[in-house]
Amino acid sequence: MSKVRKLLLIDDDRLQQRLLQQHVQNFRSGPFELEEAVTYADGLKKLLSGKYAACLLDYQLDDRDGLALLREARIAECHTPVIFLTADDNEVVDIAAMEAGAADYLVKSALTPRLLERSLRYALKLSETLSQLRLLAQRDALTGLHNRREFQRILDEEWDRSVRFKRPFTLIMVDIDHFKKINDVHGHQIGDEVLKHVASLLAGQVRNVDRVARYGGEEFGLLMVETDSKSAIESMQRLGLLLAETPCYVPKTDLTLPVTLSAGVATSLTDAGSAADLVAAADKALYAAKGGGRNCIVASAGGVFQYKVT
Ligand code: GH3
Ligand code: MG
Ligand code: MG
Repeated sequence: MSKVRKLLLIDDDRLQQRLLQQHVQNFRSGPFELEEAVTYADGLKKLLSGKYAACLLDYQLDDRDGLALLREARIAECHTPVIFLTADDNEVVDIAAMEAGAADYLVKSALTPRLLERSLRYALKLSETLSQLRLLAQRDALTGLHNRREFQRILDEEWDRSVRFKRPFTLIMVDIDHFKKINDVHGHQIGDEVLKHVASLLAGQVRNVDRVARYGGEEFGLLMVETDSKSAIESMQRLGLLLAETPCYVPKTDLTLPVTLSAGVATSLTDAGSAADLVAAADKALYAAKGGGRNCIVASAGGVFQYKVT
């Protein structure tokens, strides 16, 4: 039997709740379980929990407006599909609901189990497709890391937070040394294996709150929140050491390839005046690390750091 999926009904009308419970029990697809919230605050809290496959939302909630609830949920980046329920057919509300991000708009008096089930089926399908699209738009296909566009979005967001709360974060731009040689000698497929190896090592070692992206070809971006330059350099030294101890092994060919990295480090608030400046500062430091012989870290504020036990 397939897994029970939870639906959320946000409606202050008891009669309506009973009716919808009956409808949901009679769905041919499913099984679904309908949970209820009768107030705006409780509805929003439950919706934001992210544990519902879809939500049925009443337009009139006491003296509050279901549209406002939907907008609040979208601002909080809630992607649960929401079907709007209204008492009367009103084109203005219909359009406003769609613009606020509703998957569908149903008039209560014309509601049948078939209509509700069909609307729900479409909403679930659309939501699944959208989440696949979001994944494609935000992730790098080879490594599964954030792609450059998503990294830029995160960077801008962190920059604003950093300025507002006067808390620093550190950006590290990392580039694989002499990667072209690996491609030239062993071919692109082996080059891809090396990229995946480095990506998984970086992603596996940073804290949950930190972000890792594939910034370009063999260049990665690490964003370490609430972290100053000194701690970021220490983390990067550990990563460099770990990579030195963990060369890339490619089972198909029985090759073991040593890989080294160069890194440029720049910190918000102290090393740059904008998110774009921060990337430029980290890039410049990375360039200096390459010029300084590679396999090392250069900080934007000054200093060259080797990979050593600290
Ligand atoms: P440096 O130490 O100065 O960084 O030298 P490098 O050889 O690592 O840098 P360069 O920029 O000269 O070459 C990077 C190479 O990365 C060139 C490009 O073909 C390769 N590359 C970019 N994306 C991919 C990819 O997705 N897969 C593979 N296999 N190679 C890639
Ligand atoms: Mg390189
Ligand atoms: Mg490069």
